[in-house]
Amino acid sequence: MSEIRLHDTLSGETRPLVPLDDGAIRIYTCGPTVYGPAHIGNFRSFLFADLLVRYLRWRGHTVMWVMNITDIDDKIIKGAAAAGEAIGELTDRYLARFLEDADTLRMTRPDVLPRATDHIDRIVALIETLLERGHAYRTDDGSIFFRIASWPSYGRLARLDPEQMRVGERVEADEYAKDDVRDFALWKGAKPGEPSWSTSIGEGRPGWHIECSAMSMAHLGPSFDIHTGGIDLIFPHHEDEIAQSEAATGQPFVRTWLHCAHLRSSGSKMAKSTGNIARVAELLDAGVSPRALRYALLAVHYRAGLDHSDESLAAAGAAVTRLDTLVLALESYREDGLDDPGLEAALLGARSAFASALDDDLNISAALAAVFDLVRDLNRRIEARTLSIADATRASDALHDLDRVLGVLPDGSGASLDAELQTMLDERAAARAARDWAASDRLRDALADRGVAVEDTRDGQRWRRIPQTTRG
Ligand SMILES: [Zn+2]
Repeated sequence: MSEIRLHDTLSGETRPLVPLDDGAIRIYTCGPTVYGPAHIGNFRSFLFADLLVRYLRWRGHTVMWVMNITDIDDKIIKGAAAAGEAIGELTDRYLARFLEDADTLRMTRPDVLPRATDHIDRIVALIETLLERGHAYRTDDGSIFFRIASWPSYGRLARLDPEQMRVGERVEADEYAKDDVRDFALWKGAKPGEPSWSTSIGEGRPGWHIECSAMSMAHLGPSFDIHTGGIDLIFPHHEDEIAQSEAATGQPFVRTWLHCAHLRSSGSKMAKSTGNIARVAELLDAGVSPRALRYALLAVHYRAGLDHSDESLAAAGAAVTRLDTLVLALESYREDGLDDPGLEAALLGARSAFASALDDDLNISAALAAVFDLVRDLNRRIEARTLSIADATRASDALHDLDRVLGVLPDGSGASLDAELQTMLDERAAARAARDWAASDRLRDALADRGVAVEDTRDGQRWRRIPQTTRG
């Protein structure tokens, strides 16, 4: 196979991915601020990170994936006050909602989901180091700011000229006095009615940017492989992360920066402030299938803008249906004969084209083109009845193998059965454990009659529903 190449925002180059050490590839993703339900524009960026993680694992790499949860910030404080509830109640509720939506979209669960409020000690320690090294200063209200003038390479990620930088609409308007308009808050001095922590650097709460430096370095070390986020985070958030992390450790912070372009809707960036947002639950209520939504959010290269529309959802739904129909046709294929001499080359060719495309900076469009070339090829072979039953199983296995990266094929693990069917499934598992093959086969047939197909894998039984139209 070829080497994996990724486009690094900081250098502007597409470079081979060389893991920093022999262990896991360490990845950090800026996660949600849990003050309301995430919209699908947020999920586009998270699913891009999911695609990256799944692909690296598919290629045999060990991956350690950390996604932070911002559970303290101005919006959360305002939201909790407006709802008349404790901040922890609000953030717990929206964290649960985020995880539910992420599961619906089959996002791989990150290995660690650190919460900012669990890392106050790490944040304080980092700020202390920045104070000691002269990169931070205190103001009269107990806040602490990062001094951008102390960090000459500030602005490299966003390609800004530090001399030209002035406060503007892209620079966060802090309500705290500071020496230089460019400086950003590491620590916000306590204010009446706001939550605060009593620490060695004073009473207050962390700024947003410092959280990500503290949490990423706490779980991945001072230098790690990949940092991902939406392009709107390049400035100031990621610029600030680099400055404060490298100023504190004296080491390069991140090897490769990956940024996902916006999801657009009605011609402009999907954003809560614009009001053109769509949420996972609303789309499901409107009849969109979770797998089609996942496909729609994944199917365009991460550095290209993606338009969300009824048409793009319908196209995604049609693509998923074509895959489903083929897998079903392969799994119910009954025409036995000799093995198809051309099949192995077709499967290997598709796998290789799929991998080459994703090696090329996760070129998902080309990877999906390889998948649908294979779909056409397999449909031709089914129609011509050139496959053996063993071939059909090989072809289905090959599609499921590619789907370990895509995550769009039906899979029983995400759904649940009614109690009676679940009992039959459990009895069958027990029969197999007791090596009672006759009982196991009888239960498999009984389940098939009820519309549930069971197959045995190394991880135990896997089941899926057999669509009504193709039974019998
Ligand atoms: Zn972040």
